[in-house]
Amino acid sequence: MNIIVCVKQVPGTTQVEIDPVTGTLKRDGVSSKLNPYDLFALEMAFQLAEKTGGTVKTLSMGPPQAAEALKETLWMGAKESVLLSDRKFGGADVAATSMALYLGVKSMGDYDLILCGKQTTDGDTAQVGPELAERLGIDHAANVLRIHEVTEDTVTADIDLDTAVETLKIKLPCLLTIDKDTNTPRLPSFVKKKEIEGREEIRVLAVKDIPEADESTLGLKGSPTQVERIFPPEKNSDKLILNGTSEELAADLFGILTEKKYI
Ligand SMILES: Cc1cc2nc3c(=O)[nH]c(=O)nc-3n(C[C@H](O)[C@H](O)[C@H](O)COP(=O)(O)OP(=O)(O)OC[C@H]3O[C@@H](n4cnc5c(N)ncnc54)[C@H](O)[C@@H]3O)c2cc1C
Repeated sequence: MNIIVCVKQVPGTTQVEIDPVTGTLKRDGVSSKLNPYDLFALEMAFQLAEKTGGTVKTLSMGPPQAAEALKETLWMGAKESVLLSDRKFGGADVAATSMALYLGVKSMGDYDLILCGKQTTDGDTAQVGPELAERLGIDHAANVLRIHEVTEDTVTADIDLDTAVETLKIKLPCLLTIDKDTNTPRLPSFVKKKEIEGREEIRVLAVKDIPEADESTLGLKGSPTQVERIFPPEKNSDKLILNGTSEELAADLFGILTEKKYI
């Protein structure tokens, strides 16, 4: 079974600045780590590949430093990694992110299964996986807790529906997003790291390297949602206590709301 795992490098700190012009996170030069949710997807992929004799490849979109996250996946046992990295991919919302990953997947050859984390710790939308599956035209299921069985053309998995667990049989190839705490993620292997350090195979693709890429669908340009302003919500601790009969209270309230132009 050939598996592609999408992994994102996320800020390793809460001290992150927001670009005042684009409203997006300034990722360059910020200490970073692999999105913790993606570790569960990676572990599930390695276990499945070990059972079925397949390979695991990893894919990421991010600034050049995201190669560090991909190296970790190679030290864990991934066979090959692709990094989509170009200023033109920057500032992407879910639509543009899933478009870039779609192009990345298309460049990685045949696959049976794509695994994503359930969500990230920075963007946190949990929509990239399902949207990527839609773009690829394959079935998908979110919040997978465990995989029971894999046959040549199906995968049977438990899905967390919050109040119930549903068991689904899904046609391959498909995309699954993996819930947290579904396994114990392995650490990068020191031996593997020493074996391949400095020779890690990370294929870096810029937009110009992808003939079918349409710049108008990528990065900030291709993002229908753009952040206009980010600000902490105003805290208002002013209090006003009204006394009187119901009629007096209603009249007072009406007066205040009218004065503040709420009605
Ligand atoms: C303050 C702020 C506000 C934002 N507002 C919006 C908004 O309103 N609308 C909007 O669409 N976007 C918005 N974004 C951008 C958006 O959140 C993401 O950066 C981008 O869309 C990726 O989605 P996610 O991080 O939510 O991924 P999720 O959907 O939470 O990630 C799920 C999984 O998809 C995979 N994945 C996600 N990103 C990547 C990647 N780059 N490379 C490889 N795999 C990946 C991983 O497996 C991950 O576990 C905002 C970002 C910020 C910082």
